[in-house]
Amino acid sequence: MSPVPSQVLDVATPGDELLRRVVGDFARNRIRPLAGELDATERFPAELYREMAELGLFGVTVPAELGGAGGTALDYLSVMEGLSYGYASVADQCGLVELVGTLLAEDGTPPQRERYLAPLLRTERRCAYALTEPGAGSDLGGVRTRARRRASGGWTLTGEKIFIHNAPVADFAAVLAVTDPERGKRGGVSVFLVDLDAPGVSRPYREHKMGQRASPVGGLVFDEVVLGDDALLGEEGQGFRAMMRVLAKGRLGIAGLALGISRAALDAAAEHAASRRQFGRPIGVNQAVAFPIADMVTEYRAALLLALDAARLLDSTACSMAKLFATEACVRHTATAVQIFGGSGYIQGYEVERLYRDARITTIYEGTSEMQRLIVSRAVLGRLDGGAG
Ligand SMILES: Cc1cc2nc3c(=O)[nH]c(=O)nc-3n(C[C@H](O)[C@H](O)[C@H](O)COP(=O)(O)OP(=O)(O)OC[C@H]3O[C@@H](n4cnc5c(N)ncnc54)[C@H](O)[C@@H]3O)c2cc1C
Repeated sequence: MSPVPSQVLDVATPGDELLRRVVGDFARNRIRPLAGELDATERFPAELYREMAELGLFGVTVPAELGGAGGTALDYLSVMEGLSYGYASVADQCGLVELVGTLLAEDGTPPQRERYLAPLLRTERRCAYALTEPGAGSDLGGVRTRARRRASGGWTLTGEKIFIHNAPVADFAAVLAVTDPERGKRGGVSVFLVDLDAPGVSRPYREHKMGQRASPVGGLVFDEVVLGDDALLGEEGQGFRAMMRVLAKGRLGIAGLALGISRAALDAAAEHAASRRQFGRPIGVNQAVAFPIADMVTEYRAALLLALDAARLLDSTACSMAKLFATEACVRHTATAVQIFGGSGYIQGYEVERLYRDARITTIYEGTSEMQRLIVSRAVLGRLDGGAG
């Protein structure tokens, strides 16, 4: 039971109440008890994902007639927050399926949806979302992975992707590749659906990460991989626009994920402030301990309101603001929780030690905080460089 009274945390959330309860129970009863073990072993919790598929927690906003839950962006936000309260890696998997599922639902042909979307939502096939390359991180204009048309039909794909979530375990990937170098990212980049058991695909390594350690991340190498015409997802040349479109929802999801980590840190800090005694009384009696908790809960609520607004609008600037604020707050909150725990906050096996590590990536992936500030500042100032940067 959370030591933080629910009226302090809850704002009127218009998402589906039953869904919130299902996610809350699942996070408390199934995810949280496993989080420490998953962090220590870096194990991929396939059994949790099967249960989540049965509960309809994959493809939250994918229309029901395509096998999704048919929910709203608000539902998605609340699912991400709730799962992440259990363990951020589990929410991360939900977010990945949501992104690839949305791409397939919006741009996939009926055969592509049948082949990839339906089995993805049932967790029979696992996906990856492959944008980043050694020379292309914040600036996806640097993508060099190249898809060339073959005279006999179809495409060949050559290039390298790095830091790809699920790369070590995925069955297929949505891959961003250059189809027309002359036209650059506006019109010259496309998305391809690539089966990762195809000849020419390799996954040479798996990374070991600071946090969210049950989310497997690694590289993908494509060496003259032969693809059919039906591997192209959406229109040729529209890949950058498609990826950017789903990234707004992705950023909303990461705001939710960060909120879930913050709430777990807040719970742990509040419980410890009330139960740990020094100088003959609970440490929370000291304002030096109590006030940071007041700041945490205030910022949690502000971040949640910003995210709810972004879920309602689902526009790029609002989603960037929500991600920026929630993730930066999450990094601060987990550091505060470690401080309130004193020495034990630094010891493996204490939840706040893991939360501190899990939080750190949230200001980096799906666009760094600096990239969110760039998007928000351009909404205010426009492109002062005339579009050069
Ligand atoms: C655990 C993990 C999972 C990931 N999952 C995926 C995935 O599934 N798929 C995928 O495609 N990618 C994934 N990524 C990649 C991630 O999205 C990138 O790491 C991120 O976008 C930053 O790119 P970069 O690492 O190349 O940093 P860089 O772009 O090199 O940036 C380095 C620093 O410079 C700053 N910077 C760069 N340009 C500017 C500028 N113009 N103004 C101000 N500051 C700037 C950045 O904000 C950052 O602080 C993942 C990464 C990690 C670590």
